[in-house]
Amino acid sequence: MRILNLLLGLGLLSSALSANFTATASNTTPPQWQNNKSNKYIGFEYPNGAKNAISITFDDARESQITVGMPLFEKHQVKGTFYVVPNNVESQLTGWKKAVSYGHEIANHTSNHVCTGNFEWLRVRGLGLENATLDWIKQDIEKANNYLENKLGVTPTSFAYPCGNTFVGRGVDTRSYVPLIAQQFQFGRTWNDETANNPNYTSFSQLTAIRLDGQTFKEIKTVLEFLKGNNSWIILAGHDVGENGLYSVDKDVLEQLFVYLKDPKNGYWLDTVNTIGSYIKHHRKAP
Ligand SMILES: [Zn+2]
Repeated sequence: MRILNLLLGLGLLSSALSANFTATASNTTPPQWQNNKSNKYIGFEYPNGAKNAISITFDDARESQITVGMPLFEKHQVKGTFYVVPNNVESQLTGWKKAVSYGHEIANHTSNHVCTGNFEWLRVRGLGLENATLDWIKQDIEKANNYLENKLGVTPTSFAYPCGNTFVGRGVDTRSYVPLIAQQFQFGRTWNDETANNPNYTSFSQLTAIRLDGQTFKEIKTVLEFLKGNNSWIILAGHDVGENGLYSVDKDVLEQLFVYLKDPKNGYWLDTVNTIGSYIKHHRKAP
């Protein structure tokens, strides 16, 4: 009897839920992305007949990016986007100046790299986005821009949200700082996403990024195959370069990836976030 009651209760609940869902759906149809009710795939053309665009990005200005990564980028004549924090740049300043003259994109990753205070390494320093304000994060970003302008002569056009976190505050006082990034930069990149950027749809202030750390070349190729529909722009994001690790890209895997992505028969256009993003901005067919 108890089970029967339970089943009856569940039945009532599920019909109540579906009635509720129907009512909600009919009242709040999302706006159409294109002025085309079928939302058909409209395609995107990259230079030289490439089917996809891809950017390789590294975060934090970690030492191994200069000591291990840069020689590999130069050997394969590849340009990357590096989201740097001033303190780490300062300890390898000559290397970062060389990276600028080579043509890498140097971009903003804030000054204090503050993410959610659930990370203990931040919380023990009294830092955490839950306790930050929009004014504070704005100043922290400007500080990094000033440093890069003074020391490297670079004015960043791209930004990567530390840890992919895009908020300040907590509960009802939570605020997004995406609008701030949209005002100050051409491009903002998140982290650890599961999908690539649709060139006709993506928001330039929340570009998605796929984890590059800790993967074999075979695993990366599987991910690329999965993501390459609809002429997507795939942004890969790593941290250290050397051995494979949770926050480190295997140096041999990086070289294999360069060779694969540069081979025209594989259909990729490999370049920096700023170069590809600017091209897409000028050629996209929707907002
Ligand atoms: Zn970071």
